[in-house]
Amino acid sequence: MDRVFNFSAGPAALPLEVLQQAQAELTNWHGSGMSVMEMSHRGKEYMSIQAEAEADLRELMGIPAGYKVLFLQGGASLQFAMTPMNLLRGKASADYLNTGEWSKKAIKEAKKYGAVNVVASSEDRNFSYAPPRAQWKLDPDAAYVHITQNETIGGVEIFGAPDTGNAPLVADMSSMILSRPVDVSRYGLIYAGAQKNIGPAGLTIVIAREDLLGQPVAGTPTMMDYKILADNDSMYNTPPTYAVYIAGLVFKMLKARGGLAAMEKVNRAKAQILYDALDASSFFGSPVAKENRSLMNIPFTLKNPELDEEFLKGAKARGMIQLKGHRSVGGMRASIYNAMPIEGVRALADYMKEFEKTKA
Ligand SMILES: *Cc1c(COP(=O)(O)O)cnc(C)c1O
Repeated sequence: MDRVFNFSAGPAALPLEVLQQAQAELTNWHGSGMSVMEMSHRGKEYMSIQAEAEADLRELMGIPAGYKVLFLQGGASLQFAMTPMNLLRGKASADYLNTGEWSKKAIKEAKKYGAVNVVASSEDRNFSYAPPRAQWKLDPDAAYVHITQNETIGGVEIFGAPDTGNAPLVADMSSMILSRPVDVSRYGLIYAGAQKNIGPAGLTIVIAREDLLGQPVAGTPTMMDYKILADNDSMYNTPPTYAVYIAGLVFKMLKARGGLAAMEKVNRAKAQILYDALDASSFFGSPVAKENRSLMNIPFTLKNPELDEEFLKGAKARGMIQLKGHRSVGGMRASIYNAMPIEGVRALADYMKEFEKTKA
C-alpha cells in the first residue's frame, strides 16, 4: 500500500524524506558501524548528533543567547507540572489563560503547586476563541503567565506573544512549534512535545530563559529541575537519543526548505484551502472564531452529524485517515502539520466538495 495522507493530531505524519534517510542510516550511521539507537549517549557520535540538532533548532527559531534548549522526556503533560515547580520561584501564584482542553490540564496540574489565577476563559463559548489580551485580568504578583499557543483539540491559535509586563510569558507550543517564526525573546519559557510537528513521541523540547532557572520548589525531583538538566546539557541521565536524532533530521529538512518563514507561507496556503472550502459551504462549518483559526489543526463539522461515519469511510477509501474529531468536540479535525503536503489538503478539500454535492 502507498503512503496515506495522515491527518492525525499526534503522533503525526513525518516527512517521507526524513523516514527514508533514517531507513538508509538505520543499521550503520555515517560509517560508525552502529545504529543511532545503539550508541552511547556520551560517545562522540551521539554527542555530535545532539549538538547539531540544538544548533539547527537555535538557527531555525532564532533562539537568542541566554536561553537554554533542553531535550527531555515525559511529554508536554510533564511540563504542566515542571513549569510551576521551577518557575513559581517563591511566589504564591501564577496566571493562566484558559482556551481549551490543554489549558485546563495545565491549570489543574499547576494548582498542585500554587494558586492559579485564570486571567480569562473562553469556556463561555465552548472554547471557540482566545480572549484578547485587553480582556485579561493579570495579577501583578503572578510568577508567570501561561498560555496554550495553539489548542490542538479546539483548533484555536494565538498569533503573536501577548504583553505580560514583568511576568515571564510561558507557552505550550506543542502543536504549532516550527510552523511559523516566533519571537523567542518575548517568552520566558516555551515547551512542546515532539510528536506533533517535530519528530517521534518520547521527546519534549523546552526553551528556557536562563535567569529563571535554579529556584525549584522544595522536593523537586532532580530529573524535573530545569537548572540541573540544563547544566548537564540534557544528559543528567540518558536522553531519548533516537527521537533527538530524528528531530535533528527534521530540523535539517526545514532549513533546506527555507526555514520557518518559508514554512509559514506554505502552512498559510494549506490552511487557506480548507478554510475557504468551509466558508464556501453551507454543508460544512467551522466552529472557530476567524481571528483564532489555527494553521495546524482545523476542526470542522457536518451540518448533519449522521453523515459523519460515511464521510470518514469515504475519506479512508481515498487514502485520507485520522480525520475524526476529538471525542470532546465531535465532528472532524484535519491536522495539517509541516509534514502534510499541500496535495493532501487539496485532496481533502476536493473530497469535501464532492461529498457535499452528492449528499446536500
Ligand atoms: C498533545 C498536547 C499535549 C500533551 O502532550 P503529551 O506529549 O502527550 O504529554 C499538551 N499540550 C498540547 C497543546 C498538545 O497538543
